[in-house]
Amino acid sequence: MSEHTAATASSSEKGSSRMLSKSDFKLARTCDAKLFFRENRFRDNRAGDPYLALLAEGGYMVEALAKAKYPDGVRPGYDPDPRAACARAIEYLQGDDVVLFEATLVVGRKQARADILEKKGNVIRLLEVKSKSFDGAKHASSLASGKAGALCGVKAPFAILKDWVEKVEDVTFQVLLLEKLLPGVVVQPYLVLVDTSKSASIDNIPGLFAIERRTAADGTTRIDTATYIGTPSQLAELDLITEVDISAQVARLRDDVGAVAARFESLLDAPLPSYAAQGQRGAKCARCEFRGEATAAAGTNGFAECWGPLAVPTPHMLELYSVGTAKAPDATPLATWMIGQGKASLLEIPEEGLVNADGKIGPTPQRQRRQIEYTRRNEVFVGPQLRANIEALRAPLHFIDFETSRLALPYHQKMRPYGLVTFQWSCHSVDGPGAVPRHSEWLNNSDLWPNQLFAEALRATLGDEGTVLTWSHFEETTLKQIVDDLSRFGRDEPELAEWIRDVFERRRVDLHEWARSEYYHPGMRGRTSIKVVLDALWKSDEAMRQQFESWTGRHVDAAQDPYASLPPIEINGIAQEVHEGTGAMRAYQEMMYGFKKEDLRARDNWATLLKQYCALDTLSMVLILEHWRRATV
Ligand code: SF4
Repeated sequence: MSEHTAATASSSEKGSSRMLSKSDFKLARTCDAKLFFRENRFRDNRAGDPYLALLAEGGYMVEALAKAKYPDGVRPGYDPDPRAACARAIEYLQGDDVVLFEATLVVGRKQARADILEKKGNVIRLLEVKSKSFDGAKHASSLASGKAGALCGVKAPFAILKDWVEKVEDVTFQVLLLEKLLPGVVVQPYLVLVDTSKSASIDNIPGLFAIERRTAADGTTRIDTATYIGTPSQLAELDLITEVDISAQVARLRDDVGAVAARFESLLDAPLPSYAAQGQRGAKCARCEFRGEATAAAGTNGFAECWGPLAVPTPHMLELYSVGTAKAPDATPLATWMIGQGKASLLEIPEEGLVNADGKIGPTPQRQRRQIEYTRRNEVFVGPQLRANIEALRAPLHFIDFETSRLALPYHQKMRPYGLVTFQWSCHSVDGPGAVPRHSEWLNNSDLWPNQLFAEALRATLGDEGTVLTWSHFEETTLKQIVDDLSRFGRDEPELAEWIRDVFERRRVDLHEWARSEYYHPGMRGRTSIKVVLDALWKSDEAMRQQFESWTGRHVDAAQDPYASLPPIEINGIAQEVHEGTGAMRAYQEMMYGFKKEDLRARDNWATLLKQYCALDTLSMVLILEHWRRATV
């Protein structure tokens, strides 16, 4: 069973009988104090995170595929009392030949649900399904050469790689419970992983799963369960996951996991001071899921509880660009040093420590220093190169933005797990300063591998003339991947590949780089995403708002966020919106593979949402460049 479901299960057990689920354990491993906030139901920012929801949905299908490989598997059945559910699972496990799905394991106040338990005689294979990608071919070749596999380093003592520690700890937590519940039984732990060295031999894999959804209070729909409904022969062709024996890795971690789990268990009812939260503060708190607004009600903002008076200063030092890399004058981590000085204001950060390891002021320290200086002065910084950069652009200017997705189980034949699907682009083309932009767009609507059509349509619009402007390296990376994919899919398209190479080698300019090195507005704070930059300029630039209104016919006043102003569309009774990239991926999935995919009206509405969002991204680039042009006259 996946962690998100485990978390839900455990949350019903909060209150006087708090339990330590494996999801709680995982969270507390990142910071002890987070366990306190979860147990005491502080607001968690991740609760509505669309990206995590998207990952979770992919995880459901992987889990359903893994379970389908065990057709005799049974579910012990749900019981609201975890101890009763555990007793039932143990009863099943008295048999000599049994496969259990989602067995609840409880020892003391520790609780887990095991995805798959396969018992034969005295041996239980414990299988934890993860949608994390893994290169099975690399793993096999590592083992064959006497090394420890793809989860471990390549040199003795073959330490478990940082990326995998959390997954192995998760399994270790379950193994310890199962061994306590069934002494004398041999437990063999496995991770079941999405194997990127394999590829799909059939098309439309999502059609082989029945998805059940529920609608949350906020109107969003989430997958509740996924079940494999294809035939046994299709299942045999779905060779996309690999069971990886991690006995050696679990053996290494078991003492540590046992000791730490016991400590967390003993803290379940403890007050915050017992977690020593103040000693754990640092740059990592910038992204803490329990960090609320400064105005949040008392007892709801975990960050304010940990930081006390140091949570208050505005602007806060944690807003510093790349704060995790920033150093104090004594070369120790800046955030920790500042806390030691009893300071937390961005304006009190000493600039002497903001240097590279070699003492030079590289691009990141320069950006940090500029943020502090221009925030203090409340002024805009315009770099000396910005005007020259703008003048070097060659008309027509093509502002482009791509929407893509990478899903655990691929949709198309020959694709690998997490393979690239390029499903949409938008382009605004401009002939000269202040000219009205022309808009072009492309959105896939056929159930075929779309990357070649995507590139061909883009080529028809961009042609061979003019500068191609993007806001990140993402478009370049995507185009390079399409070139690789063309040969992988057996498409011999040398001219198209050559055109793509010309775009990213000769014609592309990254406006994001300019935002980092040649411009700073105090409203950007430590961020440089297109939405943040547009928002910062929008509030202060009347000319920008007028241009937007005359080009789009939409009035958005200074206090509004132009992205938030995109009109929602009602689809099947729910007002749907797309404001960011993850929302676009979800909308595309709904349009192409959702449970209402045959509903042409719903499909059209999803397409409209996708188009209006992607078009705003490219129009935003035009507006920002126009602003910079005016600022450098
Ligand atoms: S604010 Fe920092 S110390 Fe407090 S829970 Fe979050 S990460 Fe931990």
